Parts: sequence; C-alpha cells; structure tokens
Amino acid sequence: MRGKGFRLVEVRGIEIRLDPSVAIIFFLVVYSLGAGLFPQWHPDWATGIAWATALAAALLFFMSLLAHELAHSIVAQRHGIAVPRITLFVFGGVSELESEPRTPGTEFRIAIVGPLTSLALGMLFSGLGLELAGAGFLDELQADPEAAMATLGPLATLLMWLGPVNLMLAVFNLVPGFPLDGGRVLRAVLWWRSGDLRRATESASQVGRMFAWAIMAWGVWAAFGGALVQGLWLMLIGWFLNNAARASYLQLLLAQAMESLEVADLMRTRFESVQADEPLQAFIDEKLLRSDQEAWPVLEGGHPIGLVGLDSIRARLKEDSQAQTVAEVMGGIHESVSPHLRGREALQLMLESRRDPIPVVDAGQLVGLLHHADLMRWLALHEIDRRRQIEF
Ligand SMILES: [Zn+2]
Repeated sequence: MRGKGFRLVEVRGIEIRLDPSVAIIFFLVVYSLGAGLFPQWHPDWATGIAWATALAAALLFFMSLLAHELAHSIVAQRHGIAVPRITLFVFGGVSELESEPRTPGTEFRIAIVGPLTSLALGMLFSGLGLELAGAGFLDELQADPEAAMATLGPLATLLMWLGPVNLMLAVFNLVPGFPLDGGRVLRAVLWWRSGDLRRATESASQVGRMFAWAIMAWGVWAAFGGALVQGLWLMLIGWFLNNAARASYLQLLLAQAMESLEVADLMRTRFESVQADEPLQAFIDEKLLRSDQEAWPVLEGGHPIGLVGLDSIRARLKEDSQAQTVAEVMGGIHESVSPHLRGREALQLMLESRRDPIPVVDAGQLVGLLHHADLMRWLALHEIDRRRQIEF
C-alpha cells in the first residue's frame, strides 16, 4: 500500500490516501444508483436528480468508510500506536498501524470501534431518513413498498439507502474471520483466554478463510443463477479475503520467527583468524590472497583484539610502509555483539552500524562474525517462503 494512490488530506497526523482502485468502486456505486436503483424507486424523477442524488450518496458512502477507519486509527493512537496513514481502496479501507497491539484488550478496542461507528452512522442515517419520510412511512412500506419509496424526496431517499448500507457494513465487518474486524475481535478474545497469540491468530484466520470460501461459493451460485456481475464481484471479495487471511497469519509467523531469532543463528562460524604477531607479508601471501574471506579477526592470547582485511592494510601501509606484523595494520574492535542478541535488535544494530562484519564475542572469546549480508539472506529466504505460500 505504501506510496500508492494519491494523498487526500491529513487528519490528526494521519495521511488519508486514495488508491486508484477506488475510482472503480466509486463509478460502480454511482452507476448502479443513478441508472438502476433510484430510477426504479422514483420513475417520475428527472435523470439529473437521480444522478445528482447518486453522486451525493456515493460521496457520503466513502466518507462513512473513512469514518469507520478513522475510528480504528484514533483508538489506536490513544493506545500509543502510531498510525501513519489510512488508504481507501476497492474493498474498503486499511488503517496502517505502526505496530501490533500489545494486549488483547487494546486489540479488542481498536477492532470493535470500527463496526460500532458504522452501526451508529447506520442508525443515524436511517433515523434521519425515517424522520424526513414522516409518520406512518413504515406502515406504508409494509403495505406497498414501491408506492412508499416513491413518496420520498431526494434527501430522504439518499438517507434510506445510506443508513442500511452502513448497517450492512457493520454486520459484514463483524463476521468473526480474520482480517475483518470481527476476526480481530475473535482473535483478541482467544488471545485473552489462552495467552497464545499465534494460535489465536491461526484460528481467527482459519475462520476467515472458511468465510472467504463461503462467499466465493455464493458468488459461483449467483453467477450460475444469472447474476453474473454480482457473482463475479462476490468471488473477487472472497478471493481477496482468503488471501488477506493467509497473509496476516504468515506475517505474524515471520514477526515471531524474527523475535525468537538470535545473532547466534545468523552469524558466520566458518572463518579463519590470524595471530597478532604474524609477519604481515606472510599473512598477505599465504592467507589473505588465498581466500575470499574479507575480514580476519586478529587474536592475541585467544582473545580478539582487532580485524584485518585488504582495506585496513592498504590504508595503514600508506601512512607506515614499515609495518612488519599484522597487529600494526589491523583496525581495532570498536563494537561487538553478544551471540544472544535478538534478531530484531541485531537488525537495528546493523542498519545503524557502518561496520561490516561485526565481531560476535561471548565471554571474551570470538565465536562468530555477523555480516550485513547474512541477515539479508535470512530475510530473503523467509520472504520467498512467505510469497510462495501466499501466491498459491
Ligand atoms: Zn474496520
């Protein structure tokens, strides 16, 4: 989602973006209302009124979606989670939370407030619509729906569409399958009961996938029943939900894998060292030029005191061409890490440090070398695994 679409506004430090795919759904909503539903409800309306009402209804619909997402984001912000942006796209909206909720209670509150907002908007719009329609409208609606709807003005018509749509949005989002809000609520409850985030996510994403398959099956059934466009649309939504349910579970697995990863799992242990008093020329001729190892730990009495490689030798020989031993040309060890440092912190350290490799030292002994490339390789490996599973 990052960087895609264009920026609309900024609300409370949250950037609101529109994905280009919103244009498709916006057009579909305007078209189906302006050319379909509204003329059907009001055969006497001028074409211009039907289209203008449709346009206003579509705009308010997107503002309702935005209000739903803003509710998630503002509650997240209150719980100390930064929300850089909200993106509206073809299937609704996504609030980008900088980090996952730390507790089930936080997750529950962030998730439930979205559908509650849609529910409140739905009741508000329906209530206003009924108020405008006047007393006795509900009785008329039961007796003769077509005649009852035909009596409504443009504003009441718009509200009588927007209200139920928001109510449906609330109900749809409460389906207890990941990644829908109801799935997050379910995950929060399971997480709270078992204390096991991974299993809670797995269960919620399985329910989400079952729901996704049910929607796809419904789409196939609708398509064969003659409603081709609605059928295809349902299939697309089901497919999207299924992918999102899988992706969110795998994302969690990756985050947890990083969490349990240590420097010891990433570092290189197959490397050679050199003694501090080794003659420089012998080191260059017999070791440095005979290997593709770039950085050589320099040991004195078994302890690492420096690193030597082509670059440090070249730099030092320019100043002092009389150097005789490895110790005279080596660079010092300015930082080292423990083999038990966690993956995430190791990543942070490597992004910040300009030294490559970083010696890994345990109880004064050199146990490994941590290269930037090693962590990148590990990430690449898992990224590939993750993609392969999602794209299937
Ligand atoms: Zn939501």
